[in-house]
Amino acid sequence: MHNAEKFYAPKRSLGQNFLCDPQICQRIVAAIPAAPDAPILEIGPGRGALTRILHNRPGALFVLEKDKELVRWLRSCFPRVGVILGDGLRFCWEQTAAMPGLSLVGNLPYNVASPMIWDMVCRCRGWQSMVFMVQKEVGLRLTAPAGSRAYGALSAWVASFATPSYLFTVPPHVFRPQPKVDSAIVCFRPHPAPAWNEQQELAQLLKRLFQQRRKQLGTILKADWGDALRLWCAEHDVDRTVRPEMLNPEQLRSLSRVLSK
Ligand code: SAM
Repeated sequence: MHNAEKFYAPKRSLGQNFLCDPQICQRIVAAIPAAPDAPILEIGPGRGALTRILHNRPGALFVLEKDKELVRWLRSCFPRVGVILGDGLRFCWEQTAAMPGLSLVGNLPYNVASPMIWDMVCRCRGWQSMVFMVQKEVGLRLTAPAGSRAYGALSAWVASFATPSYLFTVPPHVFRPQPKVDSAIVCFRPHPAPAWNEQQELAQLLKRLFQQRRKQLGTILKADWGDALRLWCAEHDVDRTVRPEMLNPEQLRSLSRVLSK
């Protein structure tokens, strides 16, 4: 085993900001709400800052890494860990159904964290939890309640599948190289399988509404306005002049159902 720091220069294109503070790593691992023998999948293990703590647990450990060089190094360092060479943006998350009670963890590359979480969260049936490090601003958006400034399509989407929480802020000096901004640790507890299937309709509606978030609901949905929407507004006590950010995830789901009829 050789020292990864000496041999592998960080690749900017893969968002490689490596953690170098063992205390922060311990804190992230301790934040995973999983029993010690529950299986874990780490996304983007890099030079193994979290992996070396996780692999001491009795539970099965898998890691998914896109960087081929690091995958070779990880396989030689952690022979008991299932090291998968792959891309988290294209991964078939459904494969993980074979591991009930799986928890995910990862210090995610800043540049792909939002689309990766968007994609994962709607396919996470059966997962126990997800604990991710993301850029602080993204962490605030992921966990923002309806009506707040940071609330948007990503917040409403994620909250439709899981309960998000903002755990703590991580300063730039614990990484090499150092990023320019703060990071955040966020946790998601997936809801039991939701009783609705209109994911595509919801995704389309969220994009339509939040691309024009300064406009009123009635203006954005002008082309669809009719009895069904009037009735929906009355039932939900929503005025057509509200801005999209005032609608909570449940209201947005029911609105997408009405629009898709
Ligand atoms: N976990 C390590 C740490 O905390 O020091 C590394 C974190 S670094 C911010 C992100 C890691 O994700 C890198 O190892 C990078 O190669 C990997 N990565 C980047 N894009 C990826 C993708 N699409 N799928 C899987 N891993 C990816």
